[in-house]
Amino acid sequence: MVNQQASTERIWEWLSGIPDPEMPFLSIVDLGIVRDVHWEEEQLRIVVTPTYSGCPAKSHIDASIRNTLLDRGIEHLALETRLSPAWSTDWLGDVAKAKLLAAGIAPPMASEVPMRKLEYRAWSIATPSCPLCGSASTTVRGEFGSTLCKSLYVCGDCANPFEHFKCF
Ligand SMILES: [Zn+2]
Repeated sequence: MVNQQASTERIWEWLSGIPDPEMPFLSIVDLGIVRDVHWEEEQLRIVVTPTYSGCPAKSHIDASIRNTLLDRGIEHLALETRLSPAWSTDWLGDVAKAKLLAAGIAPPMASEVPMRKLEYRAWSIATPSCPLCGSASTTVRGEFGSTLCKSLYVCGDCANPFEHFKCF
């Protein structure tokens, strides 16, 4: 009961400790999927926008949020899924982009036309720089990497394969 009305700042801190199931080096707050946290009297309302609709990780994320808050004594939680506006890689902050790069994944580029604005398959027009050596000479090897939101590239200079977090 002590934490029943924990400040929303504290709650944001707790949520920052929840890793994304697909990219555990990023928290759900880094990803920008937590859109709103506020109290409605005795009930805490959290709004989450999944990275893309039908994301299989969404139910796992919801369970992590519930369990994390339950551990802190918050029992009355309303978890709302908001699909519009759709999540966009524009919501990834600089911290998230730096963490992606540190993990060897080329972050979405500002110059890239988001996938949601392109016809299918047309997204590969822009190629990301190699996160390992910085070379711009990279070639796409697969539209999907370890997850649907990533594509696979190979560097023409250091010959290392790497993943690119596509721009949505
Ligand atoms: Zn390279």
